Amino acid sequence: MVELSDLTLMQAARALRSGEFSSRELTLACLERIERLEPRLHCFLSLTPELALAQADEADLRLAEWRKSPEVNLPLVLGIPVAIKDVLCLEGVPCTCGSRILENFIPPYDATVVRRLLSAGAVPLGKTNTDEFAMGSSTENSAYGVTHNPWDLERVPGGSSGGSAAAVAARMALAALGTDTGGSIRQPAAFCGVTGLKPTYGRVSRFGLVAYGSSLDVAGVLAQDAMDAAAVLSLIAGSDSQDATCADLPAPELPLQDEGERPLQGLRLGVPDEYFVGGLQPEVEAGVRRAIETLESLGAVARAVSLPHTPYALPVYYLIAPAEASANLARYDGIRYGPRQPADNLLEIYRRTRGELFGAEVKRRIMLGTYALSAGYYEAYYGKAQKARTLIRRDFEAAFNQVDAIAAPVAPTTAFKIGEHADDPLAMYLEDVYTLPANLAGLPGLAFPVGFDQLGLPIGMQLMGAPFQEATLIRIACAYQGATDWHRRLPAL
Ligand code: GLN
Repeated sequence: MVELSDLTLMQAARALRSGEFSSRELTLACLERIERLEPRLHCFLSLTPELALAQADEADLRLAEWRKSPEVNLPLVLGIPVAIKDVLCLEGVPCTCGSRILENFIPPYDATVVRRLLSAGAVPLGKTNTDEFAMGSSTENSAYGVTHNPWDLERVPGGSSGGSAAAVAARMALAALGTDTGGSIRQPAAFCGVTGLKPTYGRVSRFGLVAYGSSLDVAGVLAQDAMDAAAVLSLIAGSDSQDATCADLPAPELPLQDEGERPLQGLRLGVPDEYFVGGLQPEVEAGVRRAIETLESLGAVARAVSLPHTPYALPVYYLIAPAEASANLARYDGIRYGPRQPADNLLEIYRRTRGELFGAEVKRRIMLGTYALSAGYYEAYYGKAQKARTLIRRDFEAAFNQVDAIAAPVAPTTAFKIGEHADDPLAMYLEDVYTLPANLAGLPGLAFPVGFDQLGLPIGMQLMGAPFQEATLIRIACAYQGATDWHRRLPAL
């Protein structure tokens, strides 16, 4: 029996190569763990055990061949069980986006990120729960029920990639794909005590990622540590003829394990005052500040930086993201997509299909977005928001002239209770205050655990970097994780 509790992706990859266990055995161990824990956690919207075992057997064949004549470049994810957020297409498997309107949608193709993982030999365990169309910060907006936080079943796992984060935290999968439009990889990573990597906008193809906010959406990774996240990113990144916004740049290389005592010698770390303001849970602030001290002890030089337009990020995001969503979601009309609700005329078909099959939050976003784009208000809202977005991006450009990375909290609080923000959308939006700026500016962000609060809930910190500087963030997080063991703690399940 494979002991999953302490096995990172990198360790599992080594064990598969040496023949310590097979991919089939590893996959069966994950499937058994899912069977045991899923009734309590509800991480998955669909499971794909047959596909997983077929892919595992194929990986075992490739591994056996490799052992006879070791080629150098066996992909790191070969034979590794992974989970996929249910807004990324996996051919032949339902892709619901957490919405009833896509209940019966079976994509006829793979998302590019999914295809790259599968052709490298990764083993897909299933599709993970998400807020409907990735709109939310808790998975409570999923039409198929909430995911429970493995550290406290009465709390949310964060969102929208909450199913992916909880599955990695509960060691059901060795890594998972997520998406981040305004924090949906980093915030659930922080709430579940795992590492979440949001790549630069344009680093990773969006082909087959069901669109929410097209200028903000990016696919990325949830994993146990930064090295594992880097291993997955190196496989999914890179240009794609199917996505013109995807940059033609080589994937970031894996960091070398730095053995020295001060692996971050000379690294300039910015600490923005604007991210340590009212509403920040004192224990979260203390955890992040302690982590910055640890980074300093590893050689980094911390200094204050200013990002003066930060207070505008929240209103700007909640104009731009709903505006883009209202356009992207127009296709779900019961004719092109969605189970058509019967009615006498076209308008009535639209009204019934969209009225009955979209959830409340999605409808709120469509209304907000349609309003912001309407002829009389376009300049006042959408146009203004775009200008403010430019100012937010320029703040970061100026800061990255002075520092190599920026350290900040991920979310103002640790995981909140299921239902706590149910009647207060604004309180829910405020959870995103520290993650939205990186999306508006298109920057990479990396979240990782830096401690626990008094209730035993994980505290996360994020690093933000200049465009395409993922390698810097990964190097910093690897150094931190080499010196600490927060990322190795396991929830008692
Ligand atoms: N919580 C934010 C929203 O609801 C971000 C979600 C995301 O990143 N997909 O828009």
